[in-house]
Amino acid sequence: MLKFMLKQRLNSPPSDDGTLTVDGLPLPCHLVRSRRKSLAVHVRHDRIEVRAPLRIARRDILQFLSRHQAWVCRKHQEKVQRAAEHLSLTDGSEILYKARTLTVRLRAAPRSAVAVSTRELIISGPDLSPDKVTAIFKGWLQEQAKAWLPARTRALADHLGVGTKLKDVVFRKTKSKWGHCTAQGRIQYNWLIMLAPDGVIDYMICHEVCHLLHMNHSPVYWQAVASVCPDYKRYVGWLKQHEHRLWF
Ligand SMILES: [Zn+2]
Repeated sequence: MLKFMLKQRLNSPPSDDGTLTVDGLPLPCHLVRSRRKSLAVHVRHDRIEVRAPLRIARRDILQFLSRHQAWVCRKHQEKVQRAAEHLSLTDGSEILYKARTLTVRLRAAPRSAVAVSTRELIISGPDLSPDKVTAIFKGWLQEQAKAWLPARTRALADHLGVGTKLKDVVFRKTKSKWGHCTAQGRIQYNWLIMLAPDGVIDYMICHEVCHLLHMNHSPVYWQAVASVCPDYKRYVGWLKQHEHRLWF
């Protein structure tokens, strides 16, 4: 009993109110203490979160923060910039399509359609309300996704000898994922990936199909990816740098 009490006492956090006042930081700063061993700082869209061990002194946390202040400000700036670059379908906005930056043009026309020229992505239709524009654009990308992704996925699964494990290919626009593979052999793709360059789309197919071999991201898994997509690191890098521009 005493041991338990002692342990409880030792582990109880110092009296923090959960906030930290630090000059020069762009967002409010929240302190979260837990049984972790090291200090870490995360820049969220609306706050800075410092994760700290239970018993570390507030003074040390503040010192840690001021040491990393420049990094925190840079990360925040990056987030603001990225949010401004999210995909928008208003007339005159810019869109990243197959690694080219095109200008979105909305044109009244009797029939709904999407066309790509050297510099423009033209969305036309009889009703160009924001919802309708999104629906036309979505239909156009879904059509491309359906024409390309299932056949390619099937071919690669057969090539890797896991054709019988692949049960289904489905499409869904999820919040933060390009693809997903379930233990039951269902592969799900986000149709927005059709905006990416062909190499990136191919890498995503390899990524998901290789999960039919290994349901993890272990070194053996990445070896399998490299065997069918030797340049995969380049495509992972492309996604890291540009994927926020494909979301809306
Ligand atoms: Zn994965």
